[in-house]
Amino acid sequence: MLTQSKLLATRLIRATAPKSRRDTIFKFCIFMVVIHLVSITAEWLLTGHQHMTPGIRFLVTFFTANPFVWLTLYTVRRSYRLHKQLLELASTDVLTGLINRRGFIAEAQARLADNLQGVVLIVDADHFKRINDTFGHAVGDICLRAVADRLRDVTTSQDVVARIGGEEFGIFVRRESLAIPALGQALCAVIPVRHHAATDPLHLTLSAGAAVTLQGETLEQAMRRADEALYCAKQAGRAKLVTWVADHVTCSQPRPDPLFNPVAG
Ligand code: GH3
Ligand code: MG
Ligand code: MG
Repeated sequence: MLTQSKLLATRLIRATAPKSRRDTIFKFCIFMVVIHLVSITAEWLLTGHQHMTPGIRFLVTFFTANPFVWLTLYTVRRSYRLHKQLLELASTDVLTGLINRRGFIAEAQARLADNLQGVVLIVDADHFKRINDTFGHAVGDICLRAVADRLRDVTTSQDVVARIGGEEFGIFVRRESLAIPALGQALCAVIPVRHHAATDPLHLTLSAGAAVTLQGETLEQAMRRADEALYCAKQAGRAKLVTWVADHVTCSQPRPDPLFNPVAG
């Protein structure tokens, strides 16, 4: 019930908030007309007749309601902008400027709901722990920004690109499956990263797993398949993209069963 009323309030704020100067004037006029009509109706219902001429009534309504209507429009516009900023903050990754996992799921799910078939890619930086351990966390962060730049370079504004975990990224692209190998090549080519801890640039690589979304499949299922393919890319030596073809993905070694615990067993 509380969620319903919150949703209603959000919709009301979105509909009422002025979006431009012209919209402000338009909404101001609407408010004034409504208040004017309410005032006429109230007087007629309470006394049975009208005491003021239409001109005087209009002036009375105008001067009385004017400051309150402006205040209402100003407050609603501020709430609307704050709400938008909060939503943006909640789905943005501060380090890379990309959207985060929450934003990725929302955006990619919206595209799937529109019946847009696409390719889900899970991308992971190779040997990233080693980079952190050798050069420090700050250099690791520089590398993560470089990865984000690579992802922006190989995608378009129509695609969804996100940092979905520590050194893990998600992409949703609307491409023909035939175009995936070329995308993989551009994505997984070595990234030279210049940093303060050494004179030579560091050579960073990415591994990726791709899955073409299937009819009726949820985003979660497609991401799980892309993750399986990523695991195969790691097994096959890293710095490459592996695509889930037809109904399977070929892996050099099967993934260990997470339920099987050799120590306990
Ligand atoms: P693999 O090639 O198999 O993916 O090996 P890996 O070392 O990349 O993978 P692993 O999961 O062992 O290590 C991931 C590392 O990423 C560990 C973690 O400290 C680091 N990491 C996660 N988030 C951040 C971050 O925001 N900044 C930095 N600098 N490092 C991060
Ligand atoms: Mg990694
Ligand atoms: Mg990882």
